[in-house]
Amino acid sequence: MKSAVLLVVLVLIGVAFALRGAGASDSESTERIVAPTAARADYPAPGADGKVSMEPAQWRERLNKEEFYVLREQGTERAFTGDLWDHKGHGTYTCAGCGQELFASETKFKSGTGWPSYYEPIAEAAVETTVDRAWGMARTEVHCSRCGGHLGHIFTDGPRPTGLRYCINSVSLDFVSGEPAPAPAPATSPPKEPSSAGE
Ligand SMILES: [Zn+2]
Repeated sequence: MKSAVLLVVLVLIGVAFALRGAGASDSESTERIVAPTAARADYPAPGADGKVSMEPAQWRERLNKEEFYVLREQGTERAFTGDLWDHKGHGTYTCAGCGQELFASETKFKSGTGWPSYYEPIAEAAVETTVDRAWGMARTEVHCSRCGGHLGHIFTDGPRPTGLRYCINSVSLDFVSGEPAPAPAPATSPPKEPSSAGE
């Protein structure tokens, strides 16, 4: 009889823990959500000024927990936990928030830091910087120029030719394999198939 009571108590404790786990808030959760590395099909469309501006609640709907924390709250993923720090491949690293092209694979280098590292952005206009004074240090924060999403920091111990190290969070990036998308060209009508129909 005693053991039956004990069993019921144990089951109740188990249920209580399960419910508590389900109701845990974002900040309590330590689970890691792997960001997709493939480009998504539905990035938010830029406005007339070429920028993507959305309310935090809208970003929260689009991004997973860790992406929101890094991109919108200037967070940093733990070193060696992202899926792109050791990623190799020919292609373009794009913003996970808005899809803007940010870094070419040719500029990625092995930094040993556990974060994807590049010596320069794909275009000067792709990124913007601010001075980040968090943690009692003055560091150069770098973010996407289109959506303002936080990417990481820039350090001056990078390799040639720039001497810079763009230390970027994996979750801030998606990867598109292959050549960078060509600049938008004026729409042209597709070449017409030769036709034997009487003309
Ligand atoms: Zn962006």
